[in-house]
Amino acid sequence: MSHEPMQCPRCQRTMALGFASSAATIPRLTPDQVVAFVHADHDVHAPPLWKKLLPHVAAYFASHLCEACGVYAIEFHRSLSSDEAKAMARAALDATPAR
Ligand SMILES: [Zn+2]
Repeated sequence: MSHEPMQCPRCQRTMALGFASSAATIPRLTPDQVVAFVHADHDVHAPPLWKKLLPHVAAYFASHLCEACGVYAIEFHRSLSSDEAKAMARAALDATPAR
């Protein structure tokens, strides 16, 4: 499984492939939470009850980091199994010239 490199929407450079894990919470606050002065450490990032009760199944999402300007994009539209993420990672490593 390969993955096309993504161009940075801000500076058009090629972004570095990475992965976001379903086990990691993404720091994101909505505008109304910020207006209400909700602190990021507050319970807004606690997993919902069903996620605490059900067995955890690892899922990954392809992500892209622009090392030049810091834009970070995560492809939440498609989750990847551990095997799919590993295959994509190997393809990306194989496509990267040796340093
Ligand atoms: Zn950029």
